[in-house]
Amino acid sequence: ARDAAAAESTGPGRTSDGHAVPLLANIGGPQDLPAALDNGAEGVGLYRTEFLFLDRADAPGHEEQVAAYRAVLEAFPGGKVVVRTLDSGADKPLAFLPAPGAEPNPALGERGLRMMRRHPRTLESQLAALAEAQRGTDAQLHVMAPMVTDVEDAEWFAAAAATAGIEHAGIMIEVPAAALRARHLARSVDFFSIGTNDLTQYTCAADREVGGLSRFQDPWQPAVLELVAATATAAQQAGRPCGVCGEAAADPVLACVLVGLGVTTLSMGATALPMVRAALARTSLAQCREAAQAALEARTVAEAVSSARSHLP
Ligand code: PEP
Ligand code: MG
Repeated sequence: ARDAAAAESTGPGRTSDGHAVPLLANIGGPQDLPAALDNGAEGVGLYRTEFLFLDRADAPGHEEQVAAYRAVLEAFPGGKVVVRTLDSGADKPLAFLPAPGAEPNPALGERGLRMMRRHPRTLESQLAALAEAQRGTDAQLHVMAPMVTDVEDAEWFAAAAATAGIEHAGIMIEVPAAALRARHLARSVDFFSIGTNDLTQYTCAADREVGGLSRFQDPWQPAVLELVAATATAAQQAGRPCGVCGEAAADPVLACVLVGLGVTTLSMGATALPMVRAALARTSLAQCREAAQAALEARTVAEAVSSARSHLP
């Protein structure tokens, strides 16, 4: 029994009936690797590379980037490592890449991939460092772009990754326009990862930095769940994996709902992994689907939570 408990707290993610749901870690750099490994992460679902670029007057150089990326790739031999390219602007401003002029609404401004389209050399040098970091390791490097809005964005990023020689390129789904058009975007990229933090902010038009709006900053909002469902269904129909890497994945009940909506991997801060692993291990895929259906039928956040719970063990 002790072995079974240990396996449950560190083994691969799966439902009680054996449906695999890889459980991955969100990290900000190599300093987060010990916690990810201790909590049994099967890989990295979101490497927020902007921490390497914060608080400095110039971009990090090639060798510095290669070292920071290689340390993470080497920690997961054979595993999947999803590196998000620089997500600057809005809540993550960078000194050396200022927004053009004052932006009255930075969250709706030049951030994420929009900023990289203005500064393509910065993205090119990051992708080149990633391609080099992968050489000699056997981790499966995946790159993904933040704040993708439409097919043109997705195709631009996929082309940049291909030019750098990186095989797996995906996009975050965190803008409602992208979620609504997921069936078209799925043809341009290899995978999706839903960023529920920003998807909630933009769906409910509630700034994630502003206090007092917590009712609208809740990924249980049925409108957000509806967009997650549409995205996961479109990905499934195109044969593409669709993860979630926002905070929603770290809520054990919501994690089961996300799996029931068709999400294929979950990525979260490492300390949440054991609870989510345990919640999946006691729930069948059919129960996840029933809970997901119940949450979609709900009219309010409170109803979504309580009706999902009533379908889970
Ligand atoms: C998100 O938006 O859900 C996400 C994972 O990215 P970040 O929180 O870094 O914006
Ligand atoms: Mg985001």
